[in-house]
Amino acid sequence: MRVAVFSTKTYDRDFFRAANAAFGHELVFFEARLNSQTATLAKGFPAVCVFVNDDLDARVLLMLERGGTRLVALRCAGFNNVDLQTAAQLELTVARVPAYSPQAVAEHTLALILAAARRLHKAYNRVREGNFSLDGLLGMDIAGKIAGVIGTGRIGRLVAKRLLAFECRVLAFDLAADEELAASGVEYLTTDEIFRRSDIITLHCPLAPATRHLINEESLAGMKRGVMLVNTSRGALVDTRAVTRALKSGKIGALALDVYEEEADLFFEDLSNQVIQDDVFMRMLTFPNVVITGHQAFFTHQAMEHISRQTLENITQFERGETPVGSIKWEDVRATGAA
Ligand code: NAD
Repeated sequence: MRVAVFSTKTYDRDFFRAANAAFGHELVFFEARLNSQTATLAKGFPAVCVFVNDDLDARVLLMLERGGTRLVALRCAGFNNVDLQTAAQLELTVARVPAYSPQAVAEHTLALILAAARRLHKAYNRVREGNFSLDGLLGMDIAGKIAGVIGTGRIGRLVAKRLLAFECRVLAFDLAADEELAASGVEYLTTDEIFRRSDIITLHCPLAPATRHLINEESLAGMKRGVMLVNTSRGALVDTRAVTRALKSGKIGALALDVYEEEADLFFEDLSNQVIQDDVFMRMLTFPNVVITGHQAFFTHQAMEHISRQTLENITQFERGETPVGSIKWEDVRATGAA
């Protein structure tokens, strides 16, 4: 099948070309992000393949449908960037890769927690400059801390297990409790209770209307002073301006992010020679207790292999007239709280 692959970098092309040897699709790679300005590039392609910051709003979907596209193959797990209602009205199939490597994201979450707790981001630069002073590097033990996990799906449950192994007391909230986690010692509580009691709060729920700005002025007010906040899920779960104020006041003691609500204008690009215009983001970077990675939690060999294979498999199944294994189902939408 002819596939227009948007937002591609060298690594995407390498992994997709290698995986495609077993599938034989005609892949046409575009560097451009898919949006209303670029949707015409997909004209005549029965399938498009897109990533987290491609914008599939109603207008773009209509342009795709008019251009002959029948399948939107997301090469990621989250699907908050697709207007699913419009896709359904236009009878477009939307497929994703629901579980390529939850371990990759869970491990990156732990890496961020440890980096923030031990100020590794500061230490790394200092040592390289011959500065071996420990001033400002005072860390905190993770063992014995109370960690709150919001969302215990594929990724959150692995994070919870790893935090238990680090001897944390783990509190969790999800729309449905995971029995196995509860049996292993994770305590399910309300979000208010988790915010009130946790030393570390880590977000693993999807972005949906119900979870947008879950971390806001009000929820921050109910947290412990000095709390560590971690977000490897989706940027808009967090009200960045409220978090910046909480960093200034000392309410947040450490912030570790892999996602940012306005990341589409920044992440995945080399902007090191440019003047970055996003003052909110740049202000966050000035705090010594903030660690940010640019949406790289998914980015491991194993995950990239799985993503490319499963995406191409979804396309093959669609081409054969079958329902792709990764096609988004009503239960998936309901699980986000969006319906
Ligand atoms: P999942 O669907 O397996 O789990 C999500 C869990 O959140 C489910 O158990 C669901 O019941 C729960 N949930 C829904 N609404 C909730 C709410 N209001 N409060 C608390 N919990 C709620 O998804 P997953 O594979 O664990 O992924 C979690 C998120 O991580 C995805 O939505 C995606 O956006 C993000 N993600 C980020 C990266 C990255 O590279 N940073 C990679 C993959 C996924």
